[in-house]
Amino acid sequence: MSTQDQDSARDDDQVDRKAIVNGLAAVRERIRAAALASGRKPEDVTLVAISKTQPSSAIRAAYEAGQRDFGENYAQELARKRTELVDLPDIRWHFVGALQTNKAKSVVPGTSLVHAVDRVAAAEALGKRAVASGGTVDVLLEVNVGGEESKAGVSLHRVQELAEAVSRVDGCVLRGLMCIPPPAEGDEARRYFASLREARDRLRETCPTADLLSMGMSGDYEEAIAEGATLVRVGTAIFGARKPRS
Ligand SMILES: *Cc1c(COP(=O)(O)O)cnc(C)c1O
Repeated sequence: MSTQDQDSARDDDQVDRKAIVNGLAAVRERIRAAALASGRKPEDVTLVAISKTQPSSAIRAAYEAGQRDFGENYAQELARKRTELVDLPDIRWHFVGALQTNKAKSVVPGTSLVHAVDRVAAAEALGKRAVASGGTVDVLLEVNVGGEESKAGVSLHRVQELAEAVSRVDGCVLRGLMCIPPPAEGDEARRYFASLREARDRLRETCPTADLLSMGMSGDYEEAIAEGATLVRVGTAIFGARKPRS
């Protein structure tokens, strides 16, 4: 047995399929209820299961329970899992991490949506790969809605400027905005999400393809849905706690 086989076997033993299936069902139900409560259609909200640090066998368990959209935040981890799961033909991969330009080749082609572009250079690296493979890549701009110095993302008042630059990049299609707000609850959380929705609405006047809003994680996806999220990124509420990266 190679080391890699041993790793996969161990991963497999550790995955609690039943817990994943139950977690997924519970999240789906809450998405449905949150959508209906705000007069939206549940099918207008896409659940992206954030599988970072989880073994491929956990992704397979969620896939078997009907989940199709999965998100990763490290380019190499995404590339490895895509290879391990190449037999799942209709799986859709999302890249939700910060992109180092030299890793664009691990992300494109093969990724449905890149969520966190906050520099023109990242868009250019992605667009170049897309053009080389004869296609395009859909991207969202990450917005720093809390104005936090430590966080990635373009500030709210520079969204338009970055959007114009990214729209001009060959091979890139600007599809909308994404955010990771500061820790907040209830009304405060909703205000951050509302500010992203308003920015998306303004952007859409000049960029009609920018209709997506990626916001909401395990702790706040219901508030995000109430404010118009079209994609929610949920990890621990489906897969359980993440183990530290080894
Ligand atoms: C890890 C991660 C998530 C999921 O976080 P949970 O709290 O586990 O749901 C969502 N979005 C991004 C960008 C992440 O890195």
